[in-house]
Amino acid sequence: MLIDSWGRQITYLRISVTDRCNLRCVYCMPPEGIQLRPHDEILRFEEIAEVVRAAAENGVREVRLTGGEPLARPNLPALVGMLSVIPGIEDISLTTNALLLERHAAALAEAGLKRVNISLDTLQPERFARITRGGSFEQAWRGILAAERAGLAPLKINAVAMRGVNDDEFLDLARLAVEHPWQVRFIEIMPVKNEAAWGEGFPNSFDAFIPINEVKARLAGLNLEPLNDKSGSGPAREYRIPGGPGRVGFISPVSEHFCGECNRLRLTADGSLRPCLLSDLEIPLREALRRGEPVLPYLQQAVGLKPQQHELVLNHRPVTRCMIQIGG
Ligand code: SAM
Ligand code: SF4
Repeated sequence: MLIDSWGRQITYLRISVTDRCNLRCVYCMPPEGIQLRPHDEILRFEEIAEVVRAAAENGVREVRLTGGEPLARPNLPALVGMLSVIPGIEDISLTTNALLLERHAAALAEAGLKRVNISLDTLQPERFARITRGGSFEQAWRGILAAERAGLAPLKINAVAMRGVNDDEFLDLARLAVEHPWQVRFIEIMPVKNEAAWGEGFPNSFDAFIPINEVKARLAGLNLEPLNDKSGSGPAREYRIPGGPGRVGFISPVSEHFCGECNRLRLTADGSLRPCLLSDLEIPLREALRRGEPVLPYLQQAVGLKPQQHELVLNHRPVTRCMIQIGG
């Protein structure tokens, strides 16, 4: 078992499979883009599978694939297939911007993917193009419907809540859970190397922050009813809207952190273990993997270095990687 210094058992591994993306969301990466890693510094599928095997032998049950945009990595269903046969792995999921889901949803489901979280901050095509610096809302929407058709359920929609960007749409976004059996989750924006100006017409990243309680207050008219049965092991607090088949969730990493329940480790696309999303501490693993060393001591070291909680309140912010290089 992988148990950290605070008694938390690690059962969830979040794997970034690429630092590349087909979008450039304003809160996730700087306008000029990032320095991409050369291909030979990105873990190969066999190397990722080796890390997952070692993690699964030691109690990890859930794997989430992320990016950059995970579907920008060629042949992702092959990786899903490799991971889904690893004994102990019970759940494989994907976080995606959905642009390439129309093309890949069926193959992903066939390979063993169970469900998807889709990032969608707005229902307005023009606004979508501005937030993502050029993306097509219609393409993302077709991807969402393709995921549903492929049976990737429960389907979760993640919206980053941003004052002056999409705060006039919280009700419309939440109402997706009235029309569809989807879970719509609002997430507080995190200060992860995104303080450079986002572009004309956008607030700065500090002004854009909205505490989750304010988001919830704006949804008061929906009469949200709290639910006790959570739909996963993640940090969302979940509600239902009377009469609707879906759920609404709230994730508050900043205003009301959930570090006490943290069950996860992260693996970056370039092969480092990251004990905490919001701390720059990392354990490089790639070269050890390539030398044929066992993975477990590195997993144990990373788990041993998990902080009790993040330190945003002390103004300790991550500075080495943008969110696109961590994977959320
Ligand atoms: N490209 C995929 C996507 O957009 O779903 C996966 C990677 S993306 C980095 C993972 C998640 O991180 C997305 O839901 C995105 O909205 C979220 N994210 C990125 N930057 C963020 C920030 N500064 N604060 C909060 N969430 C952020
Ligand atoms: Fe790409 Fe996802 Fe970041 Fe948007 S949030 S730039 S889609 S990695």
